[in-house]
Amino acid sequence: MNSTCLKKFSLPLMLLLGGCVQQPQPSLSEMMASARVIDIGHPIAEQSPIYPGSTRFSQSVQGTVESDGYYIRDFTMSEHAGTHVDAPAHFASGQKTVDQLSLESLSGPAAVVDVSAKVVENADYEVSVEDLEAWEQAHGSLGPKHLVLIHTGWASRWPDEERYRNMDTSGVMHFPGVSVAASQWLRERQVRALGIDTLSTDPGPSTTFAEHYDFLGGGGYHIENLANLSALPAAGAYVVVTPLAMNGGSGSPARVLAFVPQE
Ligand SMILES: [Zn+2]
Repeated sequence: MNSTCLKKFSLPLMLLLGGCVQQPQPSLSEMMASARVIDIGHPIAEQSPIYPGSTRFSQSVQGTVESDGYYIRDFTMSEHAGTHVDAPAHFASGQKTVDQLSLESLSGPAAVVDVSAKVVENADYEVSVEDLEAWEQAHGSLGPKHLVLIHTGWASRWPDEERYRNMDTSGVMHFPGVSVAASQWLRERQVRALGIDTLSTDPGPSTTFAEHYDFLGGGGYHIENLANLSALPAAGAYVVVTPLAMNGGSGSPARVLAFVPQE
C-alpha cells in the first residue's frame, strides 16, 4: 500500500477491494537495461600493485597489424593480480576451484559497507560484526543472495604500489581488512561473496590469513582490489562478477560490473 492509494480511495473501499493494486515493479531486464553500469574493478597494467611475492602482469606483442596482418599479445600474471576472485580452493583443499563456482553465485544484490571514516583513523582497521549489523539496521537483513562489498577508501591509492601496500620499515603492510568474527557472521548468513577494495580481505599486518581460512574454508569466495565503491549506493545496486573459468584455478582476474538503478 502506498500513499497514492490512501489519497485515492476511502478506507472502507480499500478494505472491500482488499487493498490497492501495487505499482508494477520493473523487471530485471528493464532495470538492467536502464541502469547506470559502473566498473568496480581496476584496469590491468604492468604497474598495477600486487601482493608481495605474486606475479606481476606482463605482456608481449606476438603480432602487429602492420607486419602480421593482425594484432595479438601473450600475457602472464598471477591468478591473484589485479581485481580478482579468490576461489574457495585458494585456502581449502577439496573446496571449489574458480571454474566450479555456480553462475548464480557470481551475481546478486550488493551490500556496500562503508568503513572509510574508521580507516582514516586506523589503517589496520578490521571490519567488525557491529559494522555489518549497522548496515542491516539501515537496509534490512543480509542473506544468501548478497555480495557484501567493503568500502574502505583504499582504492584511491591505486595504482601507487607503495601507498597501496603501505609497508612500514620492518616490512609489515598496513591496510584495512575484515575480522574473523565478521567473516563468521557473514558465513552464518550464507552471503554469496565478500569483496574489498584492498590487496586482501585479511588486514595488511596479517601473517595467518585467518579470515581467508574462515570464509573460503566455509565455501564462500572473495573479490579483492575492488574500485569505485563510493559510486554505489549502500543498497540497491546489482553486481555481476566475471572471473575466467580457469580449469582448476585458485582464482582469476575478473571484470566486476555494478548496475545502479537510475533515480
Ligand atoms: Zn584473497
